[in-house]
Amino acid sequence: MSEATALLRVLAEVEEKLHKLASRLADLAAEEERLRARLAEAEQALARRKEEHRKLRLAAQERTSEVDATDAKIREYQRKLDHDIIPYKEMEFLREQIQVLRKKLDQLSEEALSLMDAVEEDAKKLAEYEAHYREQRARLEEEIQVLQNRRGEMKKEEEATEAQLRELVAQLPLHLRQHYEKLVARVPNPVVYVNGQTCGGCHLRLSEATLLKLHEGREVVTCEHCSRFLVLRD
Ligand SMILES: [Zn+2]
Repeated sequence: MSEATALLRVLAEVEEKLHKLASRLADLAAEEERLRARLAEAEQALARRKEEHRKLRLAAQERTSEVDATDAKIREYQRKLDHDIIPYKEMEFLREQIQVLRKKLDQLSEEALSLMDAVEEDAKKLAEYEAHYREQRARLEEEIQVLQNRRGEMKKEEEATEAQLRELVAQLPLHLRQHYEKLVARVPNPVVYVNGQTCGGCHLRLSEATLLKLHEGREVVTCEHCSRFLVLRD
């Protein structure tokens, strides 16, 4: 095997490793993206849950205010009855009103109480929900951290492999290096393995002559269709 052929074989290996690394890096990035989306979703769900609780609390407060207002109205009418000198008709009217308002007050008080109970109950549930959310968030953040660490390591490995590739390319004889540079501007994989009788780059069938030269291993062989460097897998 010529020295250049041996070099190309190593190049093919290194290129293959780089492609695997790139695809694993992309997978990790997609996985991180997915985890971040889940994190955002959980955050939004918590915000919605808090808003629900806020509305319930507001409803309870409103009902309590209505109770107070109704109570104040009854006191006001009662004070008029007790202290003011007013015509009989108006007195009758005020007495009727007080009766109506007392009924209303009973109903409102009952509603206000049950709403306050509901708020208390919901506050407990919300606290549980928040605790669960915090656990979930911590878990997701940890998973993201693990992914980022793995990506960082892989990125370093990728850089080292790229440096290795550049070194190998620099060792190629000039005319091969020039051909390599031309290919690299066009395709991501300038050196490919032969799969059976087809080129691993363009997947077209190779001629008998090309395959023969390849098996002899005395010279550097390129694909007659795409001009990629061809190598045999060990
Ligand atoms: Zn080809």
